[in-house]
Amino acid sequence: MRPPHAEEGGDSHAALLNKLRAAVLGANDGIISTAGLVMGVAGATTNSAALATAGIAGLVAGALSMAAGEYVSVSAQRDSERALLAKERHELATMPEEELDELAGLLRERGLSADVAHRAAEQMMAHDALGAHADLELGIDQHDLVSPWAAAVSSLFSFAVGALIPLLAMVLAPADVRVGVTVGSVLVALFLTGFASARVGGAPPARAIARNIVGGFLAMAVTFGIGTLVGTQLG
Ligand SMILES: [Zn+2]
Repeated sequence: MRPPHAEEGGDSHAALLNKLRAAVLGANDGIISTAGLVMGVAGATTNSAALATAGIAGLVAGALSMAAGEYVSVSAQRDSERALLAKERHELATMPEEELDELAGLLRERGLSADVAHRAAEQMMAHDALGAHADLELGIDQHDLVSPWAAAVSSLFSFAVGALIPLLAMVLAPADVRVGVTVGSVLVALFLTGFASARVGGAPPARAIARNIVGGFLAMAVTFGIGTLVGTQLG
């Protein structure tokens, strides 16, 4: 797989990799957060119904929280992009000469000679003035603003898919081995998400995998320890 800044394919290739990376990180969050939760409860009780209830509640609460957070953040980003585009539209309508000079200036900065930049700017203004300014001046693709709903739904599902791994391991494994089965399943899953996120980002995978596995293992160890303490005190 090529790094995200590969030349050809430009925007759509990078955008796809960004989505893929977000999905992998969302699944990673779901794995670690739910693993910590069910391990905490498993430290306190062997009651299967309590474990299943905690795991399902954790999956749903986490997925909804991720979706809501993503919706808010992408909405804010889109609002600010829309405001910038509106301002640009207004400037193009009220001072087209200044905007033409501005565009020519941006093209000169990219290496065109004054003469060529001026003619190119004129042609771009005639073809799609707002699109040219959005792209060169603001770095926004006006036809490709991210949808907050799409972002929310995708983080909801990626978190839920990740969360299913520790939840199913804890609920489906026989009672006497379920802690071990959960730890094992989670570490394998974290190996895979660590590997995938490194590959998507074009980074060497070994460190990403190690960080991910150590982080997840610590999360489970801490919550299991706390669950055991609390269970002993209250049980
Ligand atoms: Zn402009």
